Amino acid sequence: MKIIIVGGVAGGASAAARLRRLDEQAEIIMLEKGEFISFANCGLPYYIGDEITDRGALTLQTPEGFNARFGVDVRVFSEATAIDLSGKTVEIKNSVTGLTSVESYDKLILSPGAKPFVPPIKGISNEKVFTIRSIPDAVKIKEYIAGKPSGSAAVIGGGYIGLEAAENLKRAGFAVTIIEMADYVIAPLDFEMACQVHTSLRKQGIRLLLSNGLTAIEETGDKLRLILEKPAADDLDVDLVIASVGVKPDTELAKNAGLSVSAGGAIIVDETMLTSDKDVYAVGDAVEISDFVTGKSSNIPLAGPANKQGRVAADNICGLSSKYTGTQGSAIIKLFDLTVAMTGISETTAKKQGLDADKVYTLSPSHAKYYPGAREMSVKTIFEKATGRILGAQIVGFGGVDKRCDVFASAIRAGMTASELTELELCYAPPFSSAKDPVNFAGYVIENTIAGLVKNFHWHDVAALPRDGSATLIDVRDPDEYHRGSLEGFVNLKLDSLRENLGRLDKTKPVYVNCRSGQRSYLACRILAQNGFDCYNLSGGYWLYKAIYS
Ligand code: FAD
Repeated sequence: MKIIIVGGVAGGASAAARLRRLDEQAEIIMLEKGEFISFANCGLPYYIGDEITDRGALTLQTPEGFNARFGVDVRVFSEATAIDLSGKTVEIKNSVTGLTSVESYDKLILSPGAKPFVPPIKGISNEKVFTIRSIPDAVKIKEYIAGKPSGSAAVIGGGYIGLEAAENLKRAGFAVTIIEMADYVIAPLDFEMACQVHTSLRKQGIRLLLSNGLTAIEETGDKLRLILEKPAADDLDVDLVIASVGVKPDTELAKNAGLSVSAGGAIIVDETMLTSDKDVYAVGDAVEISDFVTGKSSNIPLAGPANKQGRVAADNICGLSSKYTGTQGSAIIKLFDLTVAMTGISETTAKKQGLDADKVYTLSPSHAKYYPGAREMSVKTIFEKATGRILGAQIVGFGGVDKRCDVFASAIRAGMTASELTELELCYAPPFSSAKDPVNFAGYVIENTIAGLVKNFHWHDVAALPRDGSATLIDVRDPDEYHRGSLEGFVNLKLDSLRENLGRLDKTKPVYVNCRSGQRSYLACRILAQNGFDCYNLSGGYWLYKAIYS
């Protein structure tokens, strides 16, 4: 068996290692057009900001080391330039020698990844405009900024890589502006969760220009002048631009060979990662997979899925019947002291897919409040109304966000419902969690919602609430909290005085209740409901409302 792998990083290297573990006799050739294999793409932004100082740490394996460990013929600077599917050969061009050669294969695995999408903007090819995909890209940026220790930078695009670049340029002493076309950053999040990220970025001194587009880049002296769709208040002259507006599957090679690709240019594969050709597999950022939650075709470029798919392709080549069952988009990002994590689908996606979904917002401490260092995390959980099945979760907070999101990710994989979330017995001691973990807590709130114990209203319903006297609007926080800021038209009646004041409320009118997080107002709603009132609880409370509108 002779197997050629195109691409020597996440999916490719993972496939090569698994192939060797399963077949000691196979001839395995791994082609990488760049200088490095198996490098830490995900660590590149941190190298720019000097959080990772050792460039060598980015290279997880050398060609020699990989060959010694796995007996794989690793060829760097070797680009696969053409595939002959009927003749089962690959044409290879060596960029150092300039020589072209042809290799035959029994099985071929493509893991060419994705390319940064570079928008067709005037001036974008200026040498001070950078993208981040490879070690040489990161080195180029680091060398460039080394000579400008207190310069200014613009990041075009508020996705993960753009935000990580922004944080690291800031760490390197740069004044940073992020320009994002949408009205919020991190597209897989929903708007209101991203608003919490906006506040944090601004607090860190990053300038955010949302709902704005870059139309041209002009060179003025040694600076770049950015021309925006909606001009910023002051000139936007910067020392460098990082273009990070997304990636597209790098599939010219596959397309030219005649393999089936989707409308978006991703290679079409089945559950075994087999392409439209019976001897060619494809994995990673370049392929179209099914979204685990919706079952719809999608392209979700993430490292975990690429590695897993590499293993699945290797298994199938070696006669094991592994299947790749879909990607659910579990992702996490550190932004200064903030952590933002998500898994499954957003509310926006659920709506687009026509799913009958609902959501709850909860605000939970990272660990027992009485133990030092607890900080709150804001959790949005999206669920299927009829069944309570968990469809997605988004968390913005400080400590413990990663483990909660991983529990949600496991719950989604297992097809769990909200009631099953409440049953999860998660590790508890005061420094780590609360007796009811934030995940259990989200489950309880959904369970109560589905059971009809509470009816929720949301931040986006607040503006349209009747303020003509046909409804009662109550804020059950303590007076000092209320006086620091409240929702328009809401009167203060603190929770602990509610029972004795029930007689003052009109039972014929609906009652809308808010507190800080939605917890005290839930209690208020239970008191009101059991006394014959039609009442509604502001999920996420005034805290979430303020995070969006401040
Ligand atoms: P890659 O790892 O990109 O590897 C493809 C390789 O194929 C490249 O080295 C390329 O040179 C080579 N190649 C392409 N065409 C040819 C050819 N014709 N011949 C030979 N070689 C070829 N994901 C996460 O899940 N979490 C993160 O925190 C995260 N952070 C990231 C940060 C950055 C800056 C970047 C760039 C990506 C990040 N990702 C992250 C995404 C993750 O790195 C990718 O999803 C993953 O590497 C995809 O694996 P792949 O094998 O498909 O492609």
